[in-house]
Amino acid sequence: MSARRQMIPVKSPDDVARMREACRIVAATTKEVLRLARPGVTTGALDACAARLISAAGATPTFKGYRGFPGSICVSINDELIHGIPGPRVICPGDIVSVDIGVTYRGMIGDMARTVCVGAVPGDVAALVAGVREALEGACRMLRAGICVGDLSHALQGYADAHGYGVVRDYVGHGVGAALHEPPQIPNFGARGSGMVIPAGATLAIEPMFTLGDYRVRVLGDKWTVVTHDGAPCAHYENTVLVTDGGCEVLTVDPA
Ligand code: MG
Repeated sequence: MSARRQMIPVKSPDDVARMREACRIVAATTKEVLRLARPGVTTGALDACAARLISAAGATPTFKGYRGFPGSICVSINDELIHGIPGPRVICPGDIVSVDIGVTYRGMIGDMARTVCVGAVPGDVAALVAGVREALEGACRMLRAGICVGDLSHALQGYADAHGYGVVRDYVGHGVGAALHEPPQIPNFGARGSGMVIPAGATLAIEPMFTLGDYRVRVLGDKWTVVTHDGAPCAHYENTVLVTDGGCEVLTVDPA
């Protein structure tokens, strides 16, 4: 691989302006989709809601058709981690529902995921759902230009280890911008001081994926849906962030 391909892309002010709008749209869409995620509603209905809102905002759903993905968004429930295909499945009380949405606006992409509890769930499951968010927030507090990717990875893994969560290894966070997946890869596990140095102006999709069991996952026969190998519940939380000299700015802020 050439050195050029390994570089972390730095965004221009115009790139960042378009990413801000993409991220605003993806956050507003996510809010409405999560509002709809109630018992009796199908995952297909969530998909239709997202498609309508994204189109109305003058943007396109990034995942639709990506490597042949059939949905506009990914909806993954309970032991499904990521890449669930929306369809006839009905959301039930006690489910944990993960919604992952990408939006392309004038050529730039925002990528975001949230996991929510539908009704009452066991305490350890609720803690896991809160935990992926806490882990990401902790990683963002130490993110600034000049740290290494491994510093972020180490912080995310440290949270999971401290709480006894499985850390999924087969899927990782990533740079995002003009393409959905740009350098660097951002594993949720790793050693402090390892990996590429992150420059100011980098835009990253950081996405902890933790389980209540083992770290291993497998892909279902639909060729997309990733589930935990042992059937344990799992949670996923993702923000697109802009790295600055003094810190980072979350671009996919949950609307009030
Ligand atoms: Mg992502």
